Amino acid sequence: MSDVYADPSDPGPATPDTSDWTWVVSRPCPDCGLDPDDVRPDGVTEILLDAKSRYAAVLARSDVRARPSAGVWSPLEYSAHARDVCDVMRGRLEQILDGDGAAVRFANWDQDATAVEKAYWRADPDVLRGELEAAFDAAAEAFARPTGEQLSWSGIRSDGSTFTAQTLGRYFVHDVLHHLWDVRG
Ligand SMILES: [Zn+2]
Repeated sequence: MSDVYADPSDPGPATPDTSDWTWVVSRPCPDCGLDPDDVRPDGVTEILLDAKSRYAAVLARSDVRARPSAGVWSPLEYSAHARDVCDVMRGRLEQILDGDGAAVRFANWDQDATAVEKAYWRADPDVLRGELEAAFDAAAEAFARPTGEQLSWSGIRSDGSTFTAQTLGRYFVHDVLHHLWDVRG
């Protein structure tokens, strides 16, 4: 193994989340309470900009590195994940729009492998905050673009799950809001 585990105070990877979360585009989440029917396509941008501010506040906490229990991401790690989710979802939306109505295929994204590769737990909160704000701004701008029939254009994930531009927005919004619920942000 690499030197990732060389420091005994270094928590290393958290427990991977292997759940299938695709149901969140059609049913309310019993945990964070988000009802996907409340996420209108023209409201995604506003939700993302609000979430950006809340994550920025989370990153200012003094205990941002503390994991609530063994194997569970700290607020720092959830924030690093949210930054990367913004980039991945923005990229997938741009792919759908570039497809001009033809279904596109998304590249696989392994979020737990990404967390380990980037060693989320070692992130500098101040640096991460700047990256996260830029990622949320870019995603908010992108999700303001699709209108009309573009909202039904689709992309297929490597596991076979299909998203339209609209349901991708719902899935994305749920992900960032659910993790704010995770960190009580
Ligand atoms: Zn949720």
